[in-house]
Amino acid sequence: MDDLSRFCCQNTECSLYARRDAGNLSVCDRYGKHQQIRLLYCNACKARFSERKGTPLFHSCLPPEKAVSVLEHLVEGNGIRQTERLVGVHRDTVMRLARMAGEHAKGVHDELVAFSPRDPRGPT
Ligand SMILES: [Zn+2]
Repeated sequence: MDDLSRFCCQNTECSLYARRDAGNLSVCDRYGKHQQIRLLYCNACKARFSERKGTPLFHSCLPPEKAVSVLEHLVEGNGIRQTERLVGVHRDTVMRLARMAGEHAKGVHDELVAFSPRDPRGPT
């Protein structure tokens, strides 16, 4: 029996989208050199997708609260190592999440950097 509890439907239109362990998934096929990659089927929306599909969030097996916490630390301007220590997740995971957050996080970072240490457009 395949354990699919950490997978979830990747179809954003699906009523069970991103809901893990909802009992909607089954393995409908396998592929890859050693048939090691499973193709999953969602019986709620009839979508099929590879178990490799999905965001780093799901691949990291991190509870969503932790992932959010990581992102909050990053947005607050904490470094990768600092976030690793504070949240207690490996820095590789932190970096994966940072990449996933993508343009938004980058924008926040650029803003913080541009602002530091003093705004040159200030009145003085
Ligand atoms: Zn679905």
